[in-house]
Amino acid sequence: MQVATDRCPCCNKKFFYYDSRQYFCGSPIRTCRKCGGSYIDKRYHELAIEGLPGSEFSKGSYLFLIALGVFVLYRGIHLMGYRELGMSDTVVSRWLLPVVFTVMGLVLIIGGIIELIRIISGSKARKWEQKRQQSVARLRNPDYAWKLKQAGYPVPEEYLR
Ligand SMILES: [Zn+2]
Repeated sequence: MQVATDRCPCCNKKFFYYDSRQYFCGSPIRTCRKCGGSYIDKRYHELAIEGLPGSEFSKGSYLFLIALGVFVLYRGIHLMGYRELGMSDTVVSRWLLPVVFTVMGLVLIIGGIIELIRIISGSKARKWEQKRQQSVARLRNPDYAWKLKQAGYPVPEEYLR
């Protein structure tokens, strides 16, 4: 089975949207809708093999997000109705950009706080544990477990019977 880049390795059909940095939970073995061929999509992760992504539980990175939000919000409010040196004095520079900054800052702050609360309360861990259980259920199918193993995934012995 071949690894997909931004197109299906079987029929060469380009994916509508592909960014290798995307992270999805699910089987990395995908089926092409056009040709029905199977390929490996590295954006999909089998949690029972690879574990939970640590970044999702990193309080530091969400604190950073909140700090960034405070900075952007501050810039937005500060620039409102103000003509910054070097910028042409238009409605865009005077109002639209500052409003966009303010809203972006608020979104970052609120989003960051919600994620922190989800981590601390354990609700995030419960959500991810559900996804891990779905992954375990998939791997309990020996055909599937062997397919993944042959594709180079370090499938734990317990699934390879
Ligand atoms: Zn295809």
